[in-house]
Amino acid sequence: MSDAETRGFALARARLRSFDRQFDVAVSVQQPDRYRLLDALPADQPRIARGSGVSYVAASFGANAVSVDMRSFNRLLAFDMRTGLLCVEAGACIGDVQRFLLPLGWYLPIAPGHPRASIGGCIAADVHGKNPARDGTFRSLVEELQLHVPGRGLFNLDTRDSSGLFAATCGGLGLSGTITRATLRLSRPPRALALRRVLVDDLAQAARVLREAANAHVLYGWHDSRPDHFGRGVIHVGLSDDEAVAPAFDASPRRDLPAHIAPWPWSAWNRGTINLANAWLSHRWRRAGIEAMAVAKALFPLNDARRYFAAFGRAGLVELQWLIPHDRFDAFAAALGECVARSQPRIALISSKLFDGLPRGLAFDGRGIALAMHLPAPREISQFAFYEQVGELAVAHGGRPNPIKDSTLDEALLRRAIGPFDAIRAELARHNSGRLFGSELTRRIGL
Ligand SMILES: Cc1cc2nc3c(=O)[nH]c(=O)nc-3n(C[C@H](O)[C@H](O)[C@H](O)COP(=O)(O)OP(=O)(O)OC[C@H]3O[C@@H](n4cnc5c(N)ncnc54)[C@H](O)[C@@H]3O)c2cc1C
Repeated sequence: MSDAETRGFALARARLRSFDRQFDVAVSVQQPDRYRLLDALPADQPRIARGSGVSYVAASFGANAVSVDMRSFNRLLAFDMRTGLLCVEAGACIGDVQRFLLPLGWYLPIAPGHPRASIGGCIAADVHGKNPARDGTFRSLVEELQLHVPGRGLFNLDTRDSSGLFAATCGGLGLSGTITRATLRLSRPPRALALRRVLVDDLAQAARVLREAANAHVLYGWHDSRPDHFGRGVIHVGLSDDEAVAPAFDASPRRDLPAHIAPWPWSAWNRGTINLANAWLSHRWRRAGIEAMAVAKALFPLNDARRYFAAFGRAGLVELQWLIPHDRFDAFAAALGECVARSQPRIALISSKLFDGLPRGLAFDGRGIALAMHLPAPREISQFAFYEQVGELAVAHGGRPNPIKDSTLDEALLRRAIGPFDAIRAELARHNSGRLFGSELTRRIGL
């Protein structure tokens, strides 16, 4: 560390905490604001790139690693209005990029739920958006990227790269180097969306509705978590609606979900409040209907969820997200329902999505139905036991977990869930010479 300081490049000490609040640690943070400062750290200093730090898990920091905060690299560098190619620095937030593009008649069709996620974070976690079955994951938008590798400089890589470095960087959790910029292929957004609500009685019916609506721009389900109504819910199907009155972009003042949400001192999500919230959302959403919605609003529905997250309190939450193959999903859903009836866990939210991609590396993709569950961080052993039961059930049904969201995953479970785990690990290690890059996440899952 002193080496870096004597070169005049200050490192700040900061206590960083994951969005789910399951891990925090005091680390050194470097915030370079010019490209040459990417070479300021001693060549053998362990490090990890940090975008906006809005991963649920501790993916952008870890004990003994310097977090390289990329937020100063946030410029839009080039934009071809004719071809829809945008060159943007890695620290730019996806919400800001969408806000710039939408009035010009372009957008990124894949955007994760948090508007502060950076472009670098979206590539490194290969995130999905509102309908991964239609749009794929973020890597499908990347035409080119520039990667900084300590001691070796900047590499320009594109989809034709045969060294494996481009592929290892997309979904590589920051282990192959630091992305400095990317050229992304944009799409034309629908003028507005007609968001239809389709009621479902259980998760198996939800899966059928999701499959039938595979082409929608927006497609996700909300499900009741109360044991006696488990899985009942509504699928939101957003189709393009050129006649709709909603504007394509939202001109209302910016109210993005903050990267850091001050928690309430205690968790408000107990059995009683979870039941009340489910009853209220059921009442509100479980009516068939259609509403016109601005695309920007549909892209970031969690912008209004500040209090929802704050209410998990200082102990935070855990998100479990598993992708289950179609042919096993109904059996999985039935077994999960029985498990919920038996264990009576506190589940604040259940959502579903459709996937139709290829499982590559550790990225969350494949063909099937993804279920995500938010649970208040455990106070009771039974809550821990429920995570384990879900993991066992999911693995038994061929499920694939999402490492960027789930703090409960460990190497043993990932190895069982992802067949070629050792080959993936070896490929990532090949591009991470001296294991220079690493975070709490990558250490926990044995990379
Ligand atoms: C409320 C909420 C909703 C979400 N919704 C979704 C969703 O719908 N779909 C989805 O897929 N995900 C979703 N996520 C997860 C989130 O989009 C990803 O974790 C994303 O990576 C966060 O971006 P970030 O800039 O904060 O990355 P960070 O958390 O800072 O880092 C994430 C990973 O990317 C790496 N990284 C970041 N920048 C760079 C860079 N410049 N070069 C190399 N590596 C880099 C880090 O090392 C780390 O491994 C959600 C998260 C939250 C909190």
